[in-house]
Amino acid sequence: MITSVNPARPAEIVGRYDVSDFDAVEVAVANAASAQRHWARVPPPARAEVIGRIGEVMRERKAELARLVTIEVGKIGVEAGGDVQEAIDMAGFVAGQGRASFGDVHPCELPDKLGFTTRQPVGVVALITPWNFPVAIPSWKVFPALLAGNGIVLKPSELAPACADAFVAACRAGGVPPELVQVVHGHGDTGSALCSHPVVRAVSFTGSVATGRRVAMTAAETGPRLVSLELGGKNAMVVLADADLDLVLEGALFGAFGTAGQRCTSTSRLIVDRAVAETLIGALVDRAAALAIGDPLDDITDVGPVIDARALERIEGYVEAAVSQGAAVACGGRAVTVDGCDGGTFFAPTILAGVRASHRVAREEIFGPVLSVIEVDGFDEAIEVVNSVDVGLSAAIYTRDVNSALRAVDLIDTGIVYVNAPTIGAEIHLPFGGTKHTGNGFREAGRRGIEQFSEIKTVYVDYSGRLQRAQIDNR
Ligand code: NDP
Repeated sequence: MITSVNPARPAEIVGRYDVSDFDAVEVAVANAASAQRHWARVPPPARAEVIGRIGEVMRERKAELARLVTIEVGKIGVEAGGDVQEAIDMAGFVAGQGRASFGDVHPCELPDKLGFTTRQPVGVVALITPWNFPVAIPSWKVFPALLAGNGIVLKPSELAPACADAFVAACRAGGVPPELVQVVHGHGDTGSALCSHPVVRAVSFTGSVATGRRVAMTAAETGPRLVSLELGGKNAMVVLADADLDLVLEGALFGAFGTAGQRCTSTSRLIVDRAVAETLIGALVDRAAALAIGDPLDDITDVGPVIDARALERIEGYVEAAVSQGAAVACGGRAVTVDGCDGGTFFAPTILAGVRASHRVAREEIFGPVLSVIEVDGFDEAIEVVNSVDVGLSAAIYTRDVNSALRAVDLIDTGIVYVNAPTIGAEIHLPFGGTKHTGNGFREAGRRGIEQFSEIKTVYVDYSGRLQRAQIDNR
């Protein structure tokens, strides 16, 4: 049994869910496979209409879904609304793609011959999702997978089962055949059973680098399947000496402390030219210390809880490690209690000064409201530090000089780069994903997001009425 609780008040139970055992996984996969055979024959524009209706249902249920996001994972109201809005936007975008091209037509080297590509469904796909965007991330996977004609088994994080169930309920209310989208609850074992299931043809995973590696290994050992991985980041914001520091201030606060630092794209490193570091740190500390930490249901709250006690412990451990390696806590650095939120797992927005690129806090994903400030001498050193980690999701550069901005775009080794904006804030119609250990080359969202859920089929049609031999005839 999984018990989902409110991180702001862990005694408050959001829901209890049976763990899907081996038999339940079998049933889910079989149901999805059987429904998929019919769905695959539904033309993409008709599939798209269903996805569009799901978006409408989610729009009607937005407030209710957002409230569930807040009580299950602790996002403040506006961010919980954004999580749901992302899914609504994704439904609209994917629905539009139902009438877009599914392939290309190519000229052939022989006469009276046509070459074209089309896309066909993969079959049953397993979608394994983390807790931190409990509505948005399922939508990034479920809608493109549906459009591509697949059957789906969704395995959400054990920390956000209620949001996943509400998401699937909205899909069904929008007209998805009930058996086509299955949800199984459980821990790593449930996800692992899906990754090795012989009928599952593709796995789309979002989560930590460590789990992503296990998923890839399980899938590789048990047969050929498509595996797409969207993993962790160690996102950096570069501040050059000519940057607009007021803009930096707003961006750094939102990037580092929005969603209590628990976005895969959260700003975790502030790489600042030494010439402006002191001024910037002073201003950041003043503003960070004034952020309201509290119940995420309360409108005045800026920073809600982190997901659970384990996360709190991990974040505390990183701060201790930073101090022991020579960094200084400029503000925060500790867990806090909030009136009316007994047992809530709150951590104060934290700024660490004097961090070096080699420190653990500068290299490993913390996934909490902790910003490490690393001082550098100029552009070249800044870029070297950005690229010194082994993940590459998102980065930002603040400068007024267009040449420096565009050189940074060229040189930074991440999947997403922002200029004069923080490392967070992706829009759903642009590709999303990272380099190095952040992924395995796939991109989600945008048109590219549909690719991972379909197989390209190359078709040749010879209407000459005779045998024609490529590379041989007419040579
Ligand atoms: P985890 O890696 O802990 O879990 C992700 C999912 O994998 C959960 O559903 C989890 O289930 C499941 N799982 C755990 N073990 C296995 C296994 N052996 N086989 C298959 N599935 C398994 O991530 P979190 O939920 O803690 O999410 C935070 C992480 O996600 C951060 O690293 C963050 O950067 C990353 N992330 C990446 C994004 C991107 O697009 N690049 C976007 C958002 C988050 P259970 O919860 O039950 O253990």
